[in-house]
Amino acid sequence: MTMDISFTRTRAPLSRPDDTSLSFGKVLTDHMFMMNYEQGRGWHDPRVVPYAPMQMDPATSVLHYGQAVFDGLKAFRGADGVIRLFRAERHAKRLNKSCAALCIPEMDAELVRRSFEAIVSADHDWVPRAPGTSLYIRPTVIATEVMLGVHPASRYTYFVICSPVGSYYKEGVKPVRILATDKHVRAVQGGLGEAKTAANYAASLSAQQEAEREGFTQVLWLDGVERRWIDEVGTMNIMMRIGDEVITPPLAGTILDGVTRNSILQLLRDWGVAVNERRISIDEVMEAGRNGTLREMWGTGTAAVVSPVGELGYKGEKISIGGGQTGELTQKLYDAIVSIQYGRAPDPHGWMSEV
Ligand code: PMP
Repeated sequence: MTMDISFTRTRAPLSRPDDTSLSFGKVLTDHMFMMNYEQGRGWHDPRVVPYAPMQMDPATSVLHYGQAVFDGLKAFRGADGVIRLFRAERHAKRLNKSCAALCIPEMDAELVRRSFEAIVSADHDWVPRAPGTSLYIRPTVIATEVMLGVHPASRYTYFVICSPVGSYYKEGVKPVRILATDKHVRAVQGGLGEAKTAANYAASLSAQQEAEREGFTQVLWLDGVERRWIDEVGTMNIMMRIGDEVITPPLAGTILDGVTRNSILQLLRDWGVAVNERRISIDEVMEAGRNGTLREMWGTGTAAVVSPVGELGYKGEKISIGGGQTGELTQKLYDAIVSIQYGRAPDPHGWMSEV
């Protein structure tokens, strides 16, 4: 049975900021999507309502034990005026996967996909128009049972909020400096690395702060056991072009199954580029950097699409990648994805859905 989504329009619409002044996640739109779960009743009451604070009992379980998952995707306004979501179905499925990892009852993935459409269509005026801008969509599920016992909650709230965001690269794609750390770890086999859950981001903060103190932009995460296998970079997946091959760590339990990662691997295969999803150690990458075979390195994620790496630091050594410039393949991938997102190029894999 398909559930109807009700809509209560705001009576106090906010004024929209200028498209040129947007940063990330500071301005929220007029409406939010909500749905509730209670044991015995299941998920119910999907609705779009005016954006408003949520009142919470201080003993609400999510505030204590972090039973919370989220996802992040974008809506783009094309040059033709049409608003399109990028890979909404895959994001809906990943949110459900995160739910399963945290013992949160799964939702109907089709209803989750419709929730993205419903909120974007309610706030369609908020999808910015300036080049490179988009509407960031943040679906979140939190445990809302009021209790201090450590066990899966009997009540949950699903909500989706949206924020108009500016271009990630206002002055063109720009390489970053990253630091491989063997002191902090993000995830371990059997842990939560594959889930998009609050704890993973809390766990990343001190390493990130340390990297920034040393003059780097992001942390390159190594595995939690041997501290040598590369996992991810900051909140992005990582890819390297060594010789004629693109190498990226496999989805083996400790990294997020990035939607951008998946899309880029598809494009590379379409283009006939050799792709290898395999374990790769920091020592192999440093050596490739020293002997000149490491041609490009980039992170992939919804926020930036690709983020070229111009310098890699590890154990006091620094290697420069591609002369600190954006690599040719990195730029080609960026251009290809962005053209699909804004409806300027054909969409051969059906990634975009119109709102
Ligand atoms: N890894 C982590 C830890 C992330 O938070 C993200 C951002 N969602 C990614 C990778 C990239 O995933 P996606 O391409 O789906 O945004």
